[in-house]
Parts: sequence; structure tokens; C-alpha cells
Amino acid sequence: MKRLIPIIILLSACCHPTEDVHLSEYVSTLVGTQSDWTFSTGNTYPAIALPWGMNFWTPVTAEREEDGWAYQYDKHKITGFKQTHQPSPWINDYGAFSIIPGGGPSWFSHESEEARPYYYKVYLADHDITVEITPTERAAVMRLTFPESDSSIIGVNPFQGGKVAFDDAGATGYSVQNHGGVPEGFRNFFVIKADVPLGEAFATSRGQIVTLYIASSFISEEQAVRNLNEVLDRSFDEVKTAAQERWDKILGRIRVSGVTEEQYRTFYSCLYRSSLFPRKFYEMGPDGEPVHYSPYDGKVHDGYLYTDTGFWDTFRALFPLLNLVYPDVSREILQGLANVARENDFLPEWASPGHRDCMIGNNSAAVVADAAVQGLVSREDLEVLYNALVYGTEHVHPTVSSTGRKGHEYYNTLGYIPCDVGVNESVARTLEYAYDDWCIAQVAKLLDRPQEEIDLYLKRSRNWRNVFDPSARLMRGRRADGSFQEPFSPYKWGGDFTEGNAWHYTWSVFHDIPGLVDAMGGQESFEQMLDSVFKVPPIYDDSYYGYRIHEITEMQVADMGNYAHGNQPSQHMLYLYNWTAHPEKGSVYIREVMDRLYSAAPDGYCGDEDNGQTSAWYVFSALGFYPVCPASGQYALGSPLFPKAAVSLPGGKTLTITSKGSNPVYNDIRLNGKPINNNYVDIAPIRNGAHLTFRVSHQNTN
Ligand code: CA
Repeated sequence: MKRLIPIIILLSACCHPTEDVHLSEYVSTLVGTQSDWTFSTGNTYPAIALPWGMNFWTPVTAEREEDGWAYQYDKHKITGFKQTHQPSPWINDYGAFSIIPGGGPSWFSHESEEARPYYYKVYLADHDITVEITPTERAAVMRLTFPESDSSIIGVNPFQGGKVAFDDAGATGYSVQNHGGVPEGFRNFFVIKADVPLGEAFATSRGQIVTLYIASSFISEEQAVRNLNEVLDRSFDEVKTAAQERWDKILGRIRVSGVTEEQYRTFYSCLYRSSLFPRKFYEMGPDGEPVHYSPYDGKVHDGYLYTDTGFWDTFRALFPLLNLVYPDVSREILQGLANVARENDFLPEWASPGHRDCMIGNNSAAVVADAAVQGLVSREDLEVLYNALVYGTEHVHPTVSSTGRKGHEYYNTLGYIPCDVGVNESVARTLEYAYDDWCIAQVAKLLDRPQEEIDLYLKRSRNWRNVFDPSARLMRGRRADGSFQEPFSPYKWGGDFTEGNAWHYTWSVFHDIPGLVDAMGGQESFEQMLDSVFKVPPIYDDSYYGYRIHEITEMQVADMGNYAHGNQPSQHMLYLYNWTAHPEKGSVYIREVMDRLYSAAPDGYCGDEDNGQTSAWYVFSALGFYPVCPASGQYALGSPLFPKAAVSLPGGKTLTITSKGSNPVYNDIRLNGKPINNNYVDIAPIRNGAHLTFRVSHQNTN
């Protein structure tokens, strides 16, 4: 018997890799939680949620429940369980409230904790209470197992400024918690149904189970009661089973086989993180139709809305991943974006839930364009979105300076934002606006706009050349008089750049890599500059910030020179080797990053995960390609991790990817049997269902 077991496992691993297992069992929600504000291995929390669900739940280990670092793996005590909408500790939460079984903090251990997307369980030792939580999109069920006691208690904390009222049926209340991005009068109305009194002592017998049914609404208390229907009259286990099935289905859009269990865990934990944000901000009204409270005008409108994402991070790989694997969700997200444009003048850049002042760029253009070129936006919505994009090129939001385009008056006249006119991060803005203009041109083409309008944005898309210093072969701050910034250090973070330096930002010409190759003096020079990123020491100048920001530390400890995979400006860089004579150098680095900088452990990321972006890099890279330039209709080719992967596409179509050999370097890549002679593959045939094969051809190897 003992000899048979491994053979059976081997057979099932090679032939029916993941057909019969619950893929959600491979997910650890604790990945990235071993973080604090000085050093991030993800800066995540164990979100108990359905994919893109309106409400998430998380255990809280922070002493102050309002702390942005709600759950830190190394802490010993749980202080409560909060309904959360937090996208990032740097942005913090809104509309949160918490349930406190036992009425106060308790020691716990990770050995008595089970953390799954659809289910969380922990034993609160000081209270002798077992807590279990399972979610729906707008509600949750909490199952508490009590000890023998005449003073059992369940606390409810509506957070500062909020209210809670207890009654025979449980409790109702609201949270007003926020950190901006909401209008006056913002409330998250909650309703809790319980069969014991809440907020006061009650008697329990040993093993007594108390079940809480909890729901909320950003619209009204009445709507919160309606949202409670998601769980009412269903047992905890019924809700749990449905939640697991939902996750298995979403994760099952990509099935991979042939690698180690640890690699499955890393892959599916990354896919989980890629299918949380942006989250639903709409609710199902009395007629069963989507309605939403608008954080932009404070009114209730028909239709979809999604929120809690920063486009500076997520335009790069997260949205392209949704567009390929979850286009049904993308369609709703884009309908929601068009609704935002109807409810105020600006598209969001960092939404949580409304406009937040964070990061730079005008990368809503990339999000719109990538979905539009893949046919996921209706003509009517695209016209609304296009008008908002054009408006954004000539305006900056009156109170949220990262929305619209700060410095547009310089950019649109001089062709760059000078570094000496009081607009911070001038080079990073110029580079991102130039790419965003290229994206706007793609949308203009789809809408058959006049050629002169298309040409205007294409002309502006070449503005990156205006901050390129040919003598340094790097991007560099430029003064209003046309001279370059002195002194210049490519190791200086911030200043003319955003959370990075010239080594990082020079490559942010997503839409014109051949142009960048030329500007650097040709392919050899380009390759030499790419090599240099990894060869230069991980030294830094943090004088702009006055202290070493965590992204700098994360670059240093990764031991890859000045390559900073832990932050977004670097994340497409390895794929740029495709534009050199030695794409294999990129493949080797891509595999190194997958193998060394990602895992399924609590310290499993090499920097902020950032709402699916850093995870989406892994998912794409494991499949063997990456969207270097969203909206281009192409993926740059890389090095697939799995011998076999299958992506389920709409209409019952499948993209199958197979690779032969463990060598990360492939020189015979075929689409449907036909050799690909480019460094990229077109997305259109892939979306149509295809077979992509990666092989090593010995004829071509030296
Ligand atoms: Ca980041």
C-alpha cells in the first residue's frame, strides 16, 4: 500500500492536476501579514471575503482597532473582528465596525487559527471562545462557541463617531469612520441579528453556540436589512459551503499542474489577492437591480460601482489580468467608472471610496484603454469615459491634487513638467502622462475621433523624450529653461521621481520601448543599462524624504542591486530584456523573482502587495507572459513556471500553455503550432482560445 500511494498521487498530479480538489484550500490569506510600517512583506490583512465582495472581515491584532495595520502576524492578541473596506494601511479604512467576542483582547496562537478566503477560525484563549466567520458579498455569519459562564459578552464597536443601539433581535447602528474620500453625511449602516443580548452579560452553557447574522449598507438601514437576506435563514455551514464553492470557481479559471505543492500555494494565494480589489460598492435594490451610493456626489444612483484601488499600482498588471481572466467583472468595473464620470468631473486615480490624495499619474487612461481595446466597454460608456479622460488632461481636482493632472499647464505647453516650478515628482509625472496620452489616443481611435485629435495625444505621448538625458542615458529632472537638474544622482529617490529613482523610472516608456532603445544609443547600450540596474550596489539617497522609506529597505534586502521588485515602477523591467539580443537574461531573472521573492508564507511578498498588482505580476509571469504595455494588445513573452496551465475564457474557450523542460530559457515558442518570431504574443488570438507552447530547440542553442 505504501508503495502505491505516491504513484497514485503522481498520476493525479500529471493528468488531472486540480480538477477534484478545492483550489481555495491552497490559499493562505496570511501571506503578506508579517509587516509593519518600516518593512513590508505585503502589508496585507487576512481578508475573509467573497471575490470583489463589498465587505471584507478581518481579525484585528492592533491595540487600537482603528490602526491601519489591523492584523500583524507577529502580534499575540486579537482585539476584535472588523468589517473592513481597507485597501492599504497607508490609505486606512472607512465605514468599519467590529465585533468583540468576550468583550476585550485575548491571546491566540497561529496553531489554533485557520485562515481561508471563505472561512476564518480562531480560538480566543483568555475567553475560551472559538470564533468562526464566513462571508457573502454584503453580509457575514459569525459562529461563536462559548464556555460555561454567567457573564458571557459580545461587544460591538461602531468606531469613533458611530452609533449602536441594542434590541431584542440584536443591534443596529452605523459607522462614520473615514479618512477622506466621502461626502458629508457618509454612513455605513449595519444590522446584526442575534439570539442572545449584545453588549451586555448573558449566561452560556459549555459548548453553547451563538450565531450572529451581520449585514450593512452604504445606502440606508432599510437596504442593510435587505442585504441581510444574503445570509438569513441559512446555516453557518450552508453559507460557508457556498463561499468555498464561489472561490473554487473563481480560482478555477486558471488550472495549473506539474509543480510543487508550495508553488501551487503561492500561485493560488496570489490569484486570491488578484480577485479582491477593486471591490463592489454597489448593492441590489428592491427590484434586484444594482444601485449604489456615490462617494462623489453623496446621492444614490442606479448601476454599478467598484472602488478601493490605486491605479498607479494596478493599471500595470492587475487590470490586464482581470480583462483576460475575469472579463465579466471588468465589464462591470468599467460601467462603474463611466458612472463615476457621470457623478463628477474626474475619473478616480486613487479611490477609497471616493477620490483620495495619493501617488501621481493619470493612469485611469490605461485602465479605460486596456479594457476598451479588448472590447469590454460599450460605445456609450466609452464616450463618457473619453470625455472625462480629455477633461483630466487639462484640469486638476480642486482639493485632491493627485486626481486629474497636476502640472498640466506646463506639460501641455513645454512638453514636460519642469523640476523647478514647484510641481513635485516632475519626471515621473511627465513619463506617466506621456504614456497616458498614448492610451487616450488608442481610445480616440476606437471612437473614430478626428485625426488631429488622435495626433495631438500621439504627439504628447512622445514627451518622455523631453526628460531623457542622452549623456546619462537616464531620465532626469529638467528646469523650465531647458537645462537638466544639477546635481544629478541616479540613486536619489523621490524629488523628480515617485517612490523610486532614475534607475527605476527610466524604463517607464511602456508604449515606446523601441524609441527608448534608440534614445539610449541602440540595443547594446540599452542592454548595458538594463544590466547596470542589477549590477550597481543597492545604495540610495533618501534626502528627499529625510528618512529611509520602506521601499528603499525592501530594495536593499532583496540583493538584486537597484532592482526594486517590491515597488511598482520596476515590475515590468525584467521583460524589457525582450528588446535586447539576450531575452534569456530576463527569463532567468523572472524565474529568480518568482522563486525567491514570492512564497505562501506570512512574509511572502517583497514589498507592499498593493491591491492585486504585485500578485498579478506573479500570476502572469507563472503563465509565461506579462502586459508590459497595457492597451497595446500584446503580452511580452517570459518563462512559464508550470509544465501545463489552462485559462478558462468566455464562451467555453480555453487558453492552454505548455512548457517542456525545467530550463527557464525557451527559444521555440509557438501559438497554435505556429512559431512566434516576435518577443511578444498578440492578446486577440489568446482571448479566442489558443495553445501556447514553450520549448527548447537545441538547433538554436549555443
Ligand atoms: Ca507600492
